[in-house]
Amino acid sequence: MATSSDHNNTIDATDIAIIGAGPAGSIAAGLLRQYGHSVTVLEHQHFPRFSVGESLLPQCMEFIRQAGMQESVEAAGFRFKNGAAFACHDKTGQFDFTHKFSAGDGTIFQVERDKFDQILADGAASQGADIRYGHKVLAVTTDTNGASIEVAAEGGQTYSLHARYLLDASGFGRVLPRLLDLELPSTMPSRTSLFTHIEDNIIEGAFDRDKISIHIHPQQCNVWFWLIPFQGRCSVGVVAEDSFFQRYAHLEPKERLQTIIAEVPTLSELLTKSRFDTEIRQISGYACDVKNLYGNSYALLGNAGEFLDPVFSSGVTIAMKSAALIAPLVDQHLKGKPVDWQQEYATQLKHGVNTFRTYVEAFYDGRLQKIIFSDTQPHDIRAMISSILAGYAWDKSNPLVAKPEARLNAIYELCNAS
Ligand SMILES: Cc1cc2nc3c(=O)[nH]c(=O)nc-3n(C[C@H](O)[C@H](O)[C@H](O)COP(=O)(O)OP(=O)(O)OC[C@H]3O[C@@H](n4cnc5c(N)ncnc54)[C@H](O)[C@@H]3O)c2cc1C
Repeated sequence: MATSSDHNNTIDATDIAIIGAGPAGSIAAGLLRQYGHSVTVLEHQHFPRFSVGESLLPQCMEFIRQAGMQESVEAAGFRFKNGAAFACHDKTGQFDFTHKFSAGDGTIFQVERDKFDQILADGAASQGADIRYGHKVLAVTTDTNGASIEVAAEGGQTYSLHARYLLDASGFGRVLPRLLDLELPSTMPSRTSLFTHIEDNIIEGAFDRDKISIHIHPQQCNVWFWLIPFQGRCSVGVVAEDSFFQRYAHLEPKERLQTIIAEVPTLSELLTKSRFDTEIRQISGYACDVKNLYGNSYALLGNAGEFLDPVFSSGVTIAMKSAALIAPLVDQHLKGKPVDWQQEYATQLKHGVNTFRTYVEAFYDGRLQKIIFSDTQPHDIRAMISSILAGYAWDKSNPLVAKPEARLNAIYELCNAS
């Protein structure tokens, strides 16, 4: 096991180093400890820390359970979630995740990420992962024997860590994509999100607090809002292409967000008594991709690989899925057994990511919105869509996952004809 008492100019060694203690890093750490390997997690920040990405999908529960963290997540008192509700002008569409095609959990939670990420990281630490908060990865070299990592600890100390295998779970920090020249521009347009937490004061029963509420701008179908209920408070945010925000540039962030919300009656009528009492945050240009998800003695997890778009809350699910796929492969590799990283990791992961991609693109070009707001779909088709929205984007027994684009277009034609 690595030692971490005094890192100044010393060389540590570990079986697996993980950059970042977000959901991808902590789930990977927990799973890899189950194989008995030493795991060192290098986390730049101190927890608890804020993170965007609060609406989970039920598919996550499988990975949380596998990593031995179900009990602590369930005990935390997070807000129950069983679906997604969409609204645009006078149209509404609801998806109940318990009525889905795929087997598996149909419910999950909406989580304050500072608390949630801390629980996962504590879960990994309790299984023996060495989590080093305040340790920032500065430089990396890799070859077939492993990775050498230059780390800055607090107080100006730096040290080297040698790992037999390196996982980059650094999220939007994108450590290996930057250091190893792996960046690839995303095919998604650059979007911006403005968001905050509010004391919502929404009248009891005015909306279903068991669902994430997605509101679409009545005049611009590619501008949408989330309302994610917690216990007593809500997360609220708007997403649009960068250019949309230019006409509000003269406003202070709080007034900017409130002005944009006021354009959307389905949302603003819910929030008439809300108090915007927390810092307004903005994030731009978050869609990203990489040339390759793996290389000599390393692989990329979660957002360090690809991030598509927040609209279907798929980010944490993809992050956890990548961790669940990689853990047994790293174990095999460390035991000297051959691994086909392309087939067993990249292709597997990409299948679900590409399913989400089809749905994200169809949401913004309006095809999926037509389907969501149609009340003529047969029950089984709605259950198949529900499965994807619940995160089961890798379940190839679902015809909509097996052939996402072709089947989605067929449903769209059906809805258009009716
Ligand atoms: C506007 C918006 C809304 C979103 N909403 C949702 C949602 O509702 N549901 C959902 O599932 N997803 C959502 N997402 C996506 C979600 O935020 C991410 O997909 C998810 O957090 C990715 O997890 P991760 O573990 O890959 O990375 P992260 O959670 O980002 O964790 C990465 C960690 O790495 C650390 N790190 C970075 N650089 C270094 C370094 N050099 N050295 C050491 N440590 C480092 C960071 O401090 C951080 O703790 C949203 C994204 C956006 C942009």
